[in-house]
Amino acid sequence: MTDFAATRALFDLPEGIVYLDGNSLGPLPGAAPDRVARTLRDEWGAQLITAWNKAGWMAWPSRLGDRIAPLIGAAPGTVTTGDTLSLKMVQCLAAALDMRPDRRVILSDSGNFPTDLYMAEGLVRTLDRGHEIRTVPPEEVAEHIGEDVAALMLTEVDYRTGRRHDMAALTARAHEAGALAIWDLAHSAGAFPVDLAGAGADFAAGCTYKYLNAGPGAPAFIYVAPEHQARVAPLLSGWLGHAAPFDFDPAYRPGAGIERMRIGTPAILQMAALEAALDIWDGVDMAALRARSVDLCEAFIAGVEAACPALTLASPREADRRGSQVSFRHPEGYAIMQALIARGVIGDFRAPDILRFGIAPLYVGMEDIDRAVETLATIMDGALWDRAEYKARAAVT
Ligand SMILES: *Cc1c(COP(=O)(O)O)cnc(C)c1O
Repeated sequence: MTDFAATRALFDLPEGIVYLDGNSLGPLPGAAPDRVARTLRDEWGAQLITAWNKAGWMAWPSRLGDRIAPLIGAAPGTVTTGDTLSLKMVQCLAAALDMRPDRRVILSDSGNFPTDLYMAEGLVRTLDRGHEIRTVPPEEVAEHIGEDVAALMLTEVDYRTGRRHDMAALTARAHEAGALAIWDLAHSAGAFPVDLAGAGADFAAGCTYKYLNAGPGAPAFIYVAPEHQARVAPLLSGWLGHAAPFDFDPAYRPGAGIERMRIGTPAILQMAALEAALDIWDGVDMAALRARSVDLCEAFIAGVEAACPALTLASPREADRRGSQVSFRHPEGYAIMQALIARGVIGDFRAPDILRFGIAPLYVGMEDIDRAVETLATIMDGALWDRAEYKARAAVT
């Protein structure tokens, strides 16, 4: 059994704050500052360029990928890290389209995170081979997987509502139709057990700064199923995905396996923070993590519905259909969220009317849920959100 009081103690959470926004930016792991300082001083400072060999920097992206792999049901050698999730998604999509040259449809859903759709649009324009991005309502995805679909590109957990797709069923349906399945795990990795291999996913990518807690701008990860790795012709054929970067061969030859999904120089300082963040996951029982997440989410939903009738649940009511986040709707959602944050309960807001609460079981406990419900009830009862200072929109909501 995992001791969640112990995992919570491994984070440097500010006193008096209830943090329900780890689905946007996970909190600071207590060991991260020293870990990053060590890389700064003992590696960069003391070893200079020799650290690429002495400290093993060159191998970090895939070594860290192998540490993420067990959290997402991936075998060793199938995950590497680097760049941003936006870039990793376009790498997945380009590889999939290349493997289905006779098909033209990229199927996604209307709730997908915009960057995935924007990146797909840019790729379609650049390829100029007549691909179409077809977005359908999330509940209708299965029935739209036809013989014209090259790639099914979905985010498993909806960033606004927390609604979770059935990855195994949709991947199986895609395969029956001869399509490939690409999964965005932004709100899955570290939120609950993911089983990419079990579901038969072809490609996947995710970020490490949300539920994995590696800090702002931390590297993304990418997964390629073992059976596809040798067939992938990388779109972004950077030198560190080359078979022999230090041959400085003018012609590109893809690296072995997952290595070919690397692009350029890795962000080593962020990777040091990622390493500290991943240490916390050692020994976490993912089934226990999920059970705790469900308990906390259920308690939050029940508490808010009882105390704040003006808020409407935006997340699915059935735990099986949710990730590890709960959302409510209210026309004044932005101001309500600012009033909450001003009282030390941090969630966030997504236009037009969604209050989001990320329930990260590694460090959120039942006392946090109780305080969040009480604070929200006080704000709603007294209309304490109805002040100009809470209504002025900041750049990041
Ligand atoms: C957070 C998020 C992203 C962010 O992409 P970046 O390139 O890391 O900025 C992409 N997709 C989804 C579904 C997300 O939730």
